[in-house]
Amino acid sequence: MRVKDIPEFYRRLQVLDPEPKGELNYVNSYTLLVAVVLSAQATDVGVNKATGPLFDVVDTPEKMAALGEKKLKDYIKTIGLFNSKAKNVIGLSRILIDEHDSIVPEDGAALEKLPGVGRKTANVVRNIAFGHPTIAVDTHLFRIGNRTGMAPGKTPLEVELKLLKRTPDEFMRHAHHWLILHGRYLCKARKPDCWRCPVDDLCNFKPKTPLPEEQIRQAKAVSRKAAVKKATLKKKKAKAPIPEPQQRRETA
Ligand code: SF4
Repeated sequence: MRVKDIPEFYRRLQVLDPEPKGELNYVNSYTLLVAVVLSAQATDVGVNKATGPLFDVVDTPEKMAALGEKKLKDYIKTIGLFNSKAKNVIGLSRILIDEHDSIVPEDGAALEKLPGVGRKTANVVRNIAFGHPTIAVDTHLFRIGNRTGMAPGKTPLEVELKLLKRTPDEFMRHAHHWLILHGRYLCKARKPDCWRCPVDDLCNFKPKTPLPEEQIRQAKAVSRKAAVKKATLKKKKAKAPIPEPQQRRETA
């Protein structure tokens, strides 16, 4: 992708979804932080299933510390790596109580000091909870950056720094969500849906995935049916008797 096409890339995603939203459920900045920590190598749907009942009873660091690691594990045991995640969530809750007056810090460095919180998690929290123009590079963004040619890089950090440099200010606030949703539903890992992609003409990826066979077959069947219908109508018209007035004129 040419750097000069990047604004148009975002503009089209913006037209389709002006206010993109993440898919993790949370009720405040603390539960957002917990949900993002739990979402590492897990699906948002799976995390939401577990955090629904959990956040009904636990929505502050104090309540989480009081719940304890053992009971937390019961809530999140359906999520991958739940043992280490439970340990991190209890650990970060205690640090928030002891060092941050139970408030999630806005600062990236302070967030990254919490157990289980890396650069990606900190960027997600800073973007969603505090509106910072950060871009968290997860597996979807890493793939899109490289595949489209928008921000090629060998590491997530390299892709992130290029995206930060190349994303126009007006699109920074929502860039993370536009890209993540584009990667999740269209520019998928195994086979991107290029045939229905709104930015296919701007993207470097080749060869583009064509319209699926089954849909081509259905489209052909529909046009065959339409052709048969048209031909039948034509035949019927040809066989139809000549209208009265014309018949009279011909006889005369
Ligand atoms: S054209 Fe294909 S590879 Fe390129 S962004 Fe769209 S879905 Fe992804």
